[in-house]
Amino acid sequence: MTANNAFHYYYLFGPVPSRRLGRSLGVDPVPFKTCTFNCIYCQIGATTCLTDERMAWVPVADILAELEHFLEHDGVIDAITVGGSGEPTLHEGLGELMDGIIALRARFYADRPAPRICLLTNGSLLYLPEVSAASAKADSVKITFSAANEKIWRELHRHVSTLTYEKALDGLIAFRAEFAGEIRLEVMVVEGVNADSDTMRAIAALTARIHPDKVELNTVVRPPAEMLARPVAAERMEELALLFDPPAEVIGVYKGPALEMSNAAPREDAILALIARHPSTVEDIAGLLGAEPNVVEAALRSLEANKRAFTSIVEGRVYYMAMV
Ligand code: SF4
Repeated sequence: MTANNAFHYYYLFGPVPSRRLGRSLGVDPVPFKTCTFNCIYCQIGATTCLTDERMAWVPVADILAELEHFLEHDGVIDAITVGGSGEPTLHEGLGELMDGIIALRARFYADRPAPRICLLTNGSLLYLPEVSAASAKADSVKITFSAANEKIWRELHRHVSTLTYEKALDGLIAFRAEFAGEIRLEVMVVEGVNADSDTMRAIAALTARIHPDKVELNTVVRPPAEMLARPVAAERMEELALLFDPPAEVIGVYKGPALEMSNAAPREDAILALIARHPSTVEDIAGLLGAEPNVVEAALRSLEANKRAFTSIVEGRVYYMAMV
């Protein structure tokens, strides 16, 4: 993301459209692609740094300086979402980052509705008190929970060896007990792994122990890291949703209004920023950026020619992804 006056953002991306949140500005506190998991369905590529070591991956002060610049000069947002190129709770300064975001929000939104602060996490480190305390500073925490047992957990997430399913599950239950904000559990459903009724019933029983505010069922809708991850048909997803009490929500594609770009970034850079996070079709990109499809296509052709983007065809649809 680049602003009008050529200020370069390295740790912010978007704003990207969110079905629930509106315009969501992404904050990315770990380098690509640092994670405790290497999920078979990951949409941003294979994990290159598989770790559970918490450290200052990038300077918190630099992230906050970018956010301050964005809030001063750039677009309108409805949410600030911490997540991005991997697992954000791996940053040992997550608490400090959250405090800084809260302070900037108070400063820039003193007299108007403030954006919600959201955290996207795979939940694997919530058993650590310091991670739990830092995460609880968010207004809303979205946590992945897709396995009924250790075997499925390992198959789906191929996690760093020091983690265990039991520890992660206990961490989720303990986090709920101390966090009064919103918890959304996302169940990623993959054909042949956890899409059978018995497994989903077991997951539903476990989610009842966690007491989230909401359960969302998702499946592979964009090209995953590996073709091991097969999507589940929409009709079947609706059936599986009914196994939860109350029924889970099946996540669909964003159908809101096109977003205006918040700055005059060169079109190619704007497109690259989008497809670096979410593999997208020409139509997706055109809709999100409020651009003509032929303009988007021309930019994508140029990015491909310069080896900055490549395509993948999934179920007859051409998705563009950024080279990393
Ligand atoms: S889907 Fe999320 S948790 Fe899984 S490997 Fe990708 S970034 Fe990590």
